[in-house]
This record gives sequence, C-alpha cells and structure tokens, in this order.
Amino acid sequence: MAATPIHAASPFKVKGQIQVIFGPMFSGKRYEMAAVPASCLYDIHSLALPCSVIGIDEGQFFPDCVQFCEEMANLGKTVIVAALDGTFQRKAFGDVLALVPLAESVVKLSAVCMRCYKEAAYTKRLGSETQVEVIGGADKYMSLCRLCYFHSEQEALLSELPAENETPLGATAQAALSSRIPARQLFPLQPHNS
Ligand SMILES: [Zn+2]
Repeated sequence: MAATPIHAASPFKVKGQIQVIFGPMFSGKRYEMAAVPASCLYDIHSLALPCSVIGIDEGQFFPDCVQFCEEMANLGKTVIVAALDGTFQRKAFGDVLALVPLAESVVKLSAVCMRCYKEAAYTKRLGSETQVEVIGGADKYMSLCRLCYFHSEQEALLSELPAENETPLGATAQAALSSRIPARQLFPLQPHNS
C-alpha cells in the first residue's frame, strides 16, 4: 500500500477511478512508492483517506481489496492495483477479478518465459505444495508461456508415475495420463505400443 497526500480531502470534487494491472509473477507489476505494510486494507483506511492516489501491490492477497478500491474511487481517489490474476493452476486468484467490471482500466502484463524466453502469461509453481498461497520468489515459481506451461505439466505427470510401469507409456500409464490431463491440453501423447 502506498500513497501520495493531497492538501484537502474533498470527496467527489475529483473524479475517482480504479486502474488494474494484472500479470504473472516477474512481469514488473510492482512500482516504487513509499509503502505501508498491511494485511487488510481497512486497517490503513485512515491513512488512505487524505490521499489522492493510492497504490496497492499484491492486491490478490487482500480479502477486502475489491470493496476498498470501489469505496476509495467513489471518494474521488485514483486507485492503482497491481495483482496476480491467476494462481499457479491458472485459476482466478481470490476475488480480485471482480475488480474488472468496476475498473476504468485493466491491463495484463506479460513476463519472460523462463524456459523459451518468449512472452509468459502464467506463473508455475516449482514445488508440490497444493495450497494457493505459498510465499516465494524465483526459488518457488517461474513464469511460463502457454506451450512451456503444458510441457511442464506433462513432465510432472510423467515423473509422478510409478517406475515399475511395464513400458514407458504402456496401457496403465496412458490411462493414468488421459484421466488427469485437462481436455484443453493440445499435446497428443505418442503411443508406444510394444
Ligand atoms: Zn515458453
């Protein structure tokens, strides 16, 4: 949370707005301003009231982000929110996407794919933790493009299969894979019928 003070708080004299910057990790959403740490945005409500511009970093981690941004914009403030739009499983992160219909502007930045160096839209977790929030940086996450994201999913599935499978992609393995790979996956498995 960061803020720029104005001289007089005068709600509704200035037109407020919400600007949302989405993107995966490592996409440079973070910007430098004087920062106030908070776990809940209403905790710093009184600090935000005299400000004309409010910046919120990691918006997906604040449970009251949507309500807070709307209220501040209605008070005439410019609210700039940087947030992860998707989890490591490419699902909506909390309710942060609910900002979209409320916002005046929404952009989605891309990062650099850490495998092929093309544009990356997704964040992939390196470890096997399954909870949504696991704090970490490049030690725990990587930014990936669509192709590399699905390649890494496939590699993870293959590495999980028991080593004693009769053939590398025998009937058991193929059944296990086809039941777990999402239907949208576009990489056909090469059958290896022995
Ligand atoms: Zn890639």
